Amino acid sequence: MSKSHKLFHDAKKVIPSGVNSPVRFFEPYPFFAKKSDGSHIWDEDNKKYIDFCNGYGALLLGHRRKEILTSVSKQLKQGTLFCTPTNSEIELSKLIIGNFPSIEKVRLVNTGGEATMTAIRLARGFTKKKKIIKFEGCYHGAHDSVLVKAGSGSAHNGISVSDGGLDEVSKNTLVAPYNNSEELEKIISKNKDVAGVIIEPILANMGLILPQKNFLSDVRKITKDNNIPLIFDEVVTGFRVSPGGAQQYFGIKPDITTLAKTLGSGFVIAAVAGKKEIMNLLSPGGKVYQASTYAGNPVSVSAAIASIKTINKIKNQLYSKLEKYNAFLTSAIDDLASDMKISHQINSTSSMFQIFFTDKPVTDYISSKNADSKKFKKMFDVLLKNGIFIAPSQFEVVFLSDAHTKDDLSNTVNAYETALKTVKN
Ligand SMILES: *Cc1c(COP(=O)(O)O)cnc(C)c1O
Repeated sequence: MSKSHKLFHDAKKVIPSGVNSPVRFFEPYPFFAKKSDGSHIWDEDNKKYIDFCNGYGALLLGHRRKEILTSVSKQLKQGTLFCTPTNSEIELSKLIIGNFPSIEKVRLVNTGGEATMTAIRLARGFTKKKKIIKFEGCYHGAHDSVLVKAGSGSAHNGISVSDGGLDEVSKNTLVAPYNNSEELEKIISKNKDVAGVIIEPILANMGLILPQKNFLSDVRKITKDNNIPLIFDEVVTGFRVSPGGAQQYFGIKPDITTLAKTLGSGFVIAAVAGKKEIMNLLSPGGKVYQASTYAGNPVSVSAAIASIKTINKIKNQLYSKLEKYNAFLTSAIDDLASDMKISHQINSTSSMFQIFFTDKPVTDYISSKNADSKKFKKMFDVLLKNGIFIAPSQFEVVFLSDAHTKDDLSNTVNAYETALKTVKN
């Protein structure tokens, strides 16, 4: 029995389903990680994997990036939690504001879910209205008002609304189809009580789904015309598609932005940020309550400062390299699947991609759900066996990092070739 198998057996006795986040589980059992470096993770059996899960996108700079470790090590000597303000929180906020076109003020929190929860409360506090519109398949964390028709693990497990969530809450969440601004307009015209619209500007929790031409600008126009705050959930796209996220990449300014994942480059930190007039509503100055003991903790803040500084320093090479590597991988995989006559779609942008086994374009929740996820699982198993770790679900994304090398890429293409052969049969 492998060590991971044995550990999973032990884990199940003390941890529900043996995992601390549902997306980490896959049949028959996940590998247990021992260490990581650069583009690699090693498991407890000392097997080495090229990592394309990359902390679900958090590790844009790779594992144990030197600049991050140096900054954090320095901070560890100064203290790990003060619960009184620090100079470094100002420095980090200025860096975020400098990068993101729409952001004037920043409140630091710990997780992406906490950030979207606060963003929604802010939108409600600002408009004094009740309803939130989200898009089908978008994932915004694991709290009640966004766990409706959500992507990621909840789509994987077929959970549309979670047990234990209240109908009283979910009935205030209206759902619009992604890439369909006419439906959004219709919903808004029928509801006078809309407090905010929240969206992933690139949908990275239903596999990868790209916003079609004009979709985001239409969403911006419709929300603006109706005086409804627009929340860009940039937990994945922030820093990943450009130093200023999807809003810089597409040139569209939301009213509120949420950041997490790459912000901390492997440390626990997130942010809710936006226009002054909205952000100033947060307590204690305003009446929208939000609080957290670990918010702005100096260790995570030091990681985030180093992360943004590094990204800004290397941005001229970083994004073009990632795009080049991504294009190399996706076109090689596309060719392989085409040569084998496997019906497939590959959606890709910047440093992310996903393959779907279907002959129809994947543009929304339904077309993603209609792809053959059993084939995906078969492919995943063979990739893993061959030392390639991608997120275990069809409804996640393959993430590249700056640490990936050309050797990693050719090994990855070889593994996909083997894996696609199994899918074919
Ligand atoms: C991961 C994710 C979240 C939730 O972040 P957590 O830190 O896991 O709470 C929110 N929104 C998007 C778009 C995400 O991908």
